[in-house]
Amino acid sequence: MCGIMGYNGNKNAIPIVINGLKSLEYRGYDSSGIAYFFNNNIKVIKEKGRISELEKLISDDKSNLCIGHTRWATHGSPNRINAHPHNVGSVTIVHNGIIENYHELKNKLIKDGYKFKSETDTEVACALIDSIYQKKKDKLKTLIEIQTILKGSYAFLIIFNDEKTIYALRHGSPLIIAESSIGNLIASDIPAILEYTKEYYLLEEGEIAEIKEDNIIFYQEGKEIKKDKLIFEHDLSSAKKEGYSHFMLKEIYEQPKVIDNFLKYYFENFNLIPDIRNYKKIHIVACGSAYHAGLLGKVFLEEYLDFNVIVETSSEYRYSKPFIDKDTLVILISQSGETADTLAAMRLAKEKGAKTLGIVNVIGSSLARECDDVIYINAGPEIAVATTKAYTLQVLTLSLIAFKLGINLNKITKEEQDIIKNDYLLISKEIKKLLKEDYQDLVNKIYKKEHIFFIGRLMDYYSCLEGSLKLKEISYIHSETYPAGELKHGTISLIEDNTPIIGIATDDNIYEKTISNIKEVKARGAYVILLKRNDLKVEETVYDKLINIPKKNNLVMPIITIIPLQLIAFEVAKKLGYDIDKPRNLAKSVTVE
Ligand code: GLU
Repeated sequence: MCGIMGYNGNKNAIPIVINGLKSLEYRGYDSSGIAYFFNNNIKVIKEKGRISELEKLISDDKSNLCIGHTRWATHGSPNRINAHPHNVGSVTIVHNGIIENYHELKNKLIKDGYKFKSETDTEVACALIDSIYQKKKDKLKTLIEIQTILKGSYAFLIIFNDEKTIYALRHGSPLIIAESSIGNLIASDIPAILEYTKEYYLLEEGEIAEIKEDNIIFYQEGKEIKKDKLIFEHDLSSAKKEGYSHFMLKEIYEQPKVIDNFLKYYFENFNLIPDIRNYKKIHIVACGSAYHAGLLGKVFLEEYLDFNVIVETSSEYRYSKPFIDKDTLVILISQSGETADTLAAMRLAKEKGAKTLGIVNVIGSSLARECDDVIYINAGPEIAVATTKAYTLQVLTLSLIAFKLGINLNKITKEEQDIIKNDYLLISKEIKKLLKEDYQDLVNKIYKKEHIFFIGRLMDYYSCLEGSLKLKEISYIHSETYPAGELKHGTISLIEDNTPIIGIATDDNIYEKTISNIKEVKARGAYVILLKRNDLKVEETVYDKLINIPKKNNLVMPIITIIPLQLIAFEVAKKLGYDIDKPRNLAKSVTVE
């Protein structure tokens, strides 16, 4: 979560680190800070709130070495004292992640005489490093030892008072390291280094990097190792707003293009879509929007399978009783490929002998590297915290897996294959049309409401879950989602005059049923926004606003249906004046449990 940036070179490190942190702002944070060498001492500056608040405190000091952090509080409130960097004795660190055994370590360190200023787990890790270093007097040995003691997740940048070197190590949370024409850089994510270089090293778990002014040394188990560089393939502009007011809007509008590219690539390389027909169990595990994509995957796959697919959120799956065996396929979905709970679920699945398939955006991420098989969705960088293009591509990936399954099981005739393929190829055109519609009227009607309800059945219900999440994430309006038939079992009591209800009815098998449920809420005064498949008939009295979704095969429908809901969420949040790309309390890649 949050961001890490470090620099060691012959330029002034402070503006470079501040700029790097700014490019990571999208990940979500609540405070920020930097530490740098000045007159042979380490100076720490930190502040609550946005980086602009921190900048007000920065003097015109110059330094060749600086580490910086944007914090997303997990232990202790988001205030200046808890902000990073933390300094204990001879050690200063920034940290992404959570130290799970910090409490017992803290008690032990207090007995040893350490005093703590903050409530964070990070300061405990810092004290631990200092205490071991005091005994060992050897930095590398100290850092090897702390890895055997610390439990949880961490990406650390560490500086010691007596040496102008940045040490980096990680477990769970990612770190990348780059040599560039301006000097050596370390960051938690690519956008922070892109201005200077596209080449980088990915620090693996268990490795330690020693970043000096003019060289970088990597160690594994105390021995120096050589590492290969990776290249960031996308062009720089893909991480910039390109004239759009917000990243989210840009990413919504990018969908036709990334979907076309995806389809072209995977239709030309259909062998890269895995053949999953021989599994006896399929589990789909993910968090947030990726979980909603997984639910749609269940609908797609069950069309052709003769058993049910289990879909579970990663945080539940990893602690549930796992009925996993060697005939199980566990599909794990994560945009960043670093989602802590999803990684843990994947490791559990592997331990139990299952095959794992990752659906991932970020190339070379932990999930991509550790799964038995991986499909890259190739969305390019997604900066807005609320996912749009990565979500639609996740849904499309699952749709293609199901399409191939149907073909392999001889459940889709040659003729049907051509029709479905044609539908896939029309997605981008249909999305473009929906992006041109004007939703302002409807936005004006709902943006001041406190509660909104979403209803639908089966795949439409799952699209409702995603539409509702989008709205909650960025507009902070409370919304609830119900299977259309379930509302009357309690929640319908909340419907009163003008309560907004967004109903989705695009599945002809259950269309009439959903429309009946919509009539039930309309009869109780609800303001109904209906998204329906354009060929399905409905009386005008059923809805207040109608959005027609073009008729396509069910493998394609939800990819198109979600578009108006993404735009509506965006427009509502804009009207409310919120920080759409960086909604409160949220982080882009959730690397803690
Ligand atoms: N657990 C640490 C804290 O609460 C680090 C949080 C983060 O990843 O930003 O300070």
